[in-house]
This record gives sequence, structure tokens and C-alpha cells, in this order.
Amino acid sequence: MSKNKLKVEAIEQGTVIDHIPAGMGVRILKFFQLTDKNERITVGLNLRSGDSSKKDLIKVENTVFTVEQANQLALFASEATINEISDFKVVNKYKVQLPDAIGGVLRCPNSNCITRHETVATRFYVTEKHTGTTLKCHFCEKSFQTRLFSELN
Ligand SMILES: [Zn+2]
Repeated sequence: MSKNKLKVEAIEQGTVIDHIPAGMGVRILKFFQLTDKNERITVGLNLRSGDSSKKDLIKVENTVFTVEQANQLALFASEATINEISDFKVVNKYKVQLPDAIGGVLRCPNSNCITRHETVATRFYVTEKHTGTTLKCHFCEKSFQTRLFSELN
């Protein structure tokens, strides 16, 4: 059994998000409010991935993401893989894919947007998937690069 496999299997039940680009792990925790859960979360930063590259890894115990939730991670970690763990074994594994839309997670960067002033669930459409992801706000119809977004709350 490889070292990498041992790492992935080290939790009994839950989800391992693997192949997160180094530096994005903490951001993903914050963006998706993973730390608001009461479940135990283990974060690995700058882990070795292949010969020279580095990656982050997040393990969330007793939590299974829906495919939709997992795909929102693709905004920040397009190469991430989701490993669902049950009884210490990987029972499901898939790569995240950019969603067509993302709702209720991000705050619109436009300070004049209605979502910044009224209680409206935000919604953004992924308008560019290849030359750097851009999100277009459903309400103010402005487009922004993903790095300009912050989390709600
Ligand atoms: Zn907006």
C-alpha cells in the first residue's frame, strides 16, 4: 500500500478532498465554511504531489458532499478529487467539474449590487471555463474573476 493511499484512508467515515493546489486549502475551508461544522477536519498543506509539485488536502469526517457542493470547489481547485470514505475505504472517487452556476456561497464584489443591500440569495453563472474562470452575477449582471470574490458572512 502506497503512502498516499494510507493518507487518504486514515479516516473512518467522511470525505477527503485531494489534489487541491498548494495554497488553496485554507481558502476552500473558509469559502465553504467547512470549519463551521462540528466534525473533525484535518488539513494538509504543501504535501508532496508527484515529483516536484505540491498540493493541499482536506479531510472532513462524517460528511459527504453532494456532487453539486463538490463541484463548487472546482472554482478554486479545478483538479481536486473527492474521495468518499466509509469504514476506512474509498467507496466513491471523482474529479470535480466546474458547475454552470453557483448559488448562496459567494458575495458579489459589486458594492452597488442589490445582493449587498438586501437579503437575496446570490447567484452567479460561470461564463468562462478555459482562460481563467469568470463569474457573472445574476442580479447586477457584472462579471468578475473568481479571485475577487469573498465568502458570504
Ligand atoms: Zn451582483
